[in-house]
Amino acid sequence: MPFPPFSKTFTYNGSQVKLHGFSTGKVRMRKRFRDARFSGFLAKLHVLLNTEMTEWMPIWTWLIEHPAGNFLVDTGEISVICQPNYFDGLSWFDAWVNKTLFEFEVRRKDEIDVLLEKAGFSTDAIDKVLMTHLHMDHADGLCHFPKSEILVNRAEWEKPFGALPKTKDGSWNPTFVDLNENFGPFKAKRLAEGLWLVDTPGHTFGHCSVVLETEEGLVFLAGDASYNQDQLENNVFSAGVADLSAAKKSYEDIKKLAKEKPLVYLPSHDAEVINRLRAKEYLGQSIELVRNGMDVKTGS
Ligand SMILES: [Zn+2]
Repeated sequence: MPFPPFSKTFTYNGSQVKLHGFSTGKVRMRKRFRDARFSGFLAKLHVLLNTEMTEWMPIWTWLIEHPAGNFLVDTGEISVICQPNYFDGLSWFDAWVNKTLFEFEVRRKDEIDVLLEKAGFSTDAIDKVLMTHLHMDHADGLCHFPKSEILVNRAEWEKPFGALPKTKDGSWNPTFVDLNENFGPFKAKRLAEGLWLVDTPGHTFGHCSVVLETEEGLVFLAGDASYNQDQLENNVFSAGVADLSAAKKSYEDIKKLAKEKPLVYLPSHDAEVINRLRAKEYLGQSIELVRNGMDVKTGS
């Protein structure tokens, strides 16, 4: 398995919180779709003309074992994505774009229900599913959670971007979340002790990230706010962002938060997340200290 499951235990206010990562198969995409050289129309043209693909990337979903319940962040992709008729129902052009830009490798045994079971969890034990956004590789696994409450940012539901018809096929009903509180520079909603849904728009109009407060710093489950940490650090954006200026602001806000508190940045398609968690490699200013072998003060 190229991206094996892993877990790490944190403490917060005297309680243990355990974070598990499961990659539901893998994905690669046109390189110039992920890492755009230009913006707007030129970026899209470049994606069509340049056929180079990225390396294979994980499709992380996260389980947070929290005193308040089991929270799953995103549900990953399922094996039907590899069937040729998956994109039926889209226009010819949209189907062609999806098949051309992305390549998935997801087997039945890579789906989240199987991975959870292997780790000792039944899907029925998932109390709440938190959606970062509604793209297929985050939402298709929802079919495995008919009994869980599914929390979606109302703004994401009302104006989805690039979400396929299957995402809103009526097979599941969301509980809407209104981000009417604040966490650092973000509009946010507190979901449980030290657990927040924060707005990081750009990739989609209502894209969210999930922040976990721990005594070792903040764990920032970034969804597709960027595809990996390199993009964030080097201000590289995808050719497929819904709103480039919002994406830029989200990058700035994440970096601002990382200056206030040690923050481990964990995007959904970043192969380095395991190493980063193990090494406690914090984003931003702290990162140099860690790389130089110095201890980093952890905040709460
Ligand atoms: Zn996405």
